[in-house]
Amino acid sequence: MNMENYKLQGEKLPIVTYPDPVLSAKATPVTEFGPDLNKLIKNMLFTMYHAPGIGLAAPQVGISQRIFVLDVDYEREVITNSEGRDEVRMSGFNPMVFINPIITGTSGTTTYEEGCLSVPGVYEEVKRFQTIHVKYQNLKGEHLELEADDLLSICLQHENDHLDGIVFIERLSNLKKNFYKKKMKKEKGT
Ligand SMILES: [Zn+2]
Repeated sequence: MNMENYKLQGEKLPIVTYPDPVLSAKATPVTEFGPDLNKLIKNMLFTMYHAPGIGLAAPQVGISQRIFVLDVDYEREVITNSEGRDEVRMSGFNPMVFINPIITGTSGTTTYEEGCLSVPGVYEEVKRFQTIHVKYQNLKGEHLELEADDLLSICLQHENDHLDGIVFIERLSNLKKNFYKKKMKKEKGT
């Protein structure tokens, strides 16, 4: 599998926003590791890079399965080209794919100002574990594990929450949670 292609080729999938019910559903495990899964992952990575974001879970594109992609390393800059037009340049890609992830260990706590492609315009500090241990499968269905800290750990916890139907605003104080819930519902006219 050539991960390099994933930033360049693919289909931009529509991102669902809160309070779409798919974001509150518990996603189901992946059992088929074939071409359909490959295609979905490729399109999810393309969608994430072009959103742009550092993580994207399948429920965010309306698919209730235990899959997410992330890249906490790539750089993105907007430059003005020789014709005077703005151009987005991305480099240093490190795409990661997590299928059927399970957090099997945690330690410490940290806070980070999080945002979410499904909750546009909201950025709030969320308390997370500092370090986590995660078991997961790759695109081939192979079982792997990883110890993560810093931004990777935070991003993994945020994306893993999506698979359990938890959007990051659910992790805020009741006051903030209710404020954003009302705001998002009002904006969507629901
Ligand atoms: Zn999110």
